[in-house]
This record gives sequence, structure tokens and C-alpha cells, in this order.
Amino acid sequence: MLFNDIKSLSHNELREFLSGNGHKPYRADQIRVWIFKQMMQSYEGLNVPAELCELLESKFRLKSLSEETKMESSDGTIKWLYKTSDGMPVETVMIPTETRASVCVSTQSGCAMGCAFCRTGRMGLNRSLEAGEILEQIINVHKYFLREAQDRTVTNVIFMGMGEPLANLDAVHRACVCLHDQKAFSMGKGRLTISTSGFAPKIAELLERSTPCQLAVSLVAADNETRESLMPINKTWNLSELLKAVDNYLELSGEWVTFEYILIKNKTCTPAAAKNLIRIVKPRRCKINAIVLNGNENSELEAPSEQEVDEFLRIVRAENVQINIRNPRGRDILAACGQLASTSSNKVAI
Ligand code: SAH
Ligand code: SF4
Repeated sequence: MLFNDIKSLSHNELREFLSGNGHKPYRADQIRVWIFKQMMQSYEGLNVPAELCELLESKFRLKSLSEETKMESSDGTIKWLYKTSDGMPVETVMIPTETRASVCVSTQSGCAMGCAFCRTGRMGLNRSLEAGEILEQIINVHKYFLREAQDRTVTNVIFMGMGEPLANLDAVHRACVCLHDQKAFSMGKGRLTISTSGFAPKIAELLERSTPCQLAVSLVAADNETRESLMPINKTWNLSELLKAVDNYLELSGEWVTFEYILIKNKTCTPAAAKNLIRIVKPRRCKINAIVLNGNENSELEAPSEQEVDEFLRIVRAENVQINIRNPRGRDILAACGQLASTSSNKVAI
């Protein structure tokens, strides 16, 4: 295992690295307090033998992202664009409400999944991020609050920025473990949500690894034909395979699953689509977050009218199915779901 960023290492791996290099393993605790509690971004001032400091410096980066731009929406949402040390674009969004502040993190630079409604999908994939690069996005928001909004703190982390989290599960798992760790971010698992476009076989792996997180599944559409026309991943794992994986997760975890459903005119926001959705969600322990399509370059896809949305919600709610409609946040700065995209001069083929 080779990491560039020290934040990617688990506690045990750091201990092993230290003892393997002739240093006391207990230094791992001290180093992790420096990184995750004090949130220092340089080794300078770290109270360890100079030789160890030099070793760490020569092996691992402590800061991997550099800020390129920061944009603030009229609704308070903030979006940052970072570049990784090899020049890859990464976007992070902070979404405040009265009582919470959620950080929407990217797990990859770009995304290979190619969903028709999503700007990130149009970018293609640059590369997956290391756990340290994911965690640094959250550290940066913490540091921003310390500087500019001391009454605020990060309450939730949602893995819903650029990328398909389950296509980078090792790093996402490491990030969740660190966020949950009492000696690091100390966040309850209910505050960490991973959203997948339907990478069915990896859903079971979340349970095998005991990744501390909640699961959200981007159902998007409730029949195979429509889903396949919008999401290429449905050709690999169709609705019945995806739902089998979800059922297995529900049974083994005892948790709830959130389905994300996108309301698209004449496609997913019709009375027939509402019936299909009811058929899927009614027998399952789940919630639905419906979201009206956010603007993107695919001109074939349109947002439904307010009446169409109301009619859709009425049909679903008449069956006593719990459906929440999510308010779009940060649309004016292209920070809402599916709007994160940035160009890179360094793109690799997917
Ligand atoms: N790749 C993961 C997580 C990132 S996308 C996934 O697809 O689940 C986060 C959410 O934004 C997903 O639920 C996705 O369906 C939704 N989304 C993408 N593009 C959108 C758009 N144009 N309008 C509304 N929601 C969108
Ligand atoms: Fe990737 Fe999710 Fe966008 Fe699909 S919706 S392209 S999986 S980021």
C-alpha cells in the first residue's frame, strides 16, 4: 500500500510505519492529534525527534489540495474548487441550514459513470482520490469555520460530490473510519452518508467492512427502460440486481436506506412513473428524497412544472409512502446535485 498523504493511513498503519522505521509506535497518537484535532497542515512545530519529522516529510504529504476558487451562493452554500498536487480538479460544497452544516465531498476527480443528467458525468474520470484527499476537504471546511464563522461546525458529511463513492470504496471506507474515530473527527455514523449510483456488488462490501455510514441509492428512475436511458450503470446492474443488493443490506444491517429520485419531465415525473416508484419503495424500509432536475447541458432533459411535481407527490403520498422533496441549494453557483464539473488539462482515458 502506497499513499502520498499521511491522512490516508489508518491508525494501525501509521503505528506500523513508525515501528518499522525504528520509532516508537505511540508517536502515532501524537501525530494524529496534530493532524486531525489541531488540523495542522505542516510538520513544522510537531514535537517529535527531528529525524522523525524529516522522515515524515520525505514520505508523506500533509496537505494535498490547493484552493483555486471559492464561490458563495445567495442561499449561503459555498463551493470550493481545489487542485490536487498533480493538477486534478476537486470540488467541495458546504450546505448550511439553521442547525446543521453538511459538507458534500468528492471521492473522485470527475466520474466514469456517465449519467445523462449529471455534469460531473460529462467530465469523465480523471482519477480516484486518496482517503487523505477526501478528509482534507472536510478539514478545510473546519478551518474555514474557525476563521470566518465560529458559531458553525461541520455536522454531516455526504459523499455526494464528484465521483462514484463505491468505485473508490477503499479510500471512502478509510475516510469514514477516520471521521467516526473518537480520536479524530468523532462523528456518529448517522452523520455520514454515502450515495451510490447503483454499484450493486459493493453494497454488500460496506457491511463486510463495517464501514460507519448510512446508505443512499440513486434510484433516479423506477423502471429499467427509463433508468437505462439515463444511467449506463443500469446495463451492468439492472433494477432487480440493485434491489436485491439493497434488500440484502436492509436485512443484514437493520438500517434504513434512502432512495434519491430525480424528477424529470415526461420521464420520471409522470403518473405511471409514480406507480412504479410506489411498487419499489412500499415494501422496503426506506425514505425517498425527490429532487427536481437541476440544470445541465443535456437539452433533452427538462425539469417538470410545479403542477406535475405536485401531482406526482400526491399520487405517491396517497399510498402512505414517505417522500421528501429536497430544496435545491447553490444552483446559482452550480453547486447543486449533478452540477459539479471542472476541466482539467490532464485527463486520462477511462
Ligand atoms: N455518484 C453518486 C454520488 C454523487 S451524485 C451518485 O450518483 O449517487 C449525488 C446525487 O445527485 C445523486 O443522487 C444523483 O442522482 C444526483 N444528481 C446528479 N445530477 C443531478 C441533476 N442534474 N439534478 C438533480 N440531481 C442530480
Ligand atoms: Fe457520477 Fe453520480 Fe454524476 Fe452519475 S450522478 S455521473 S454516478 S457523480
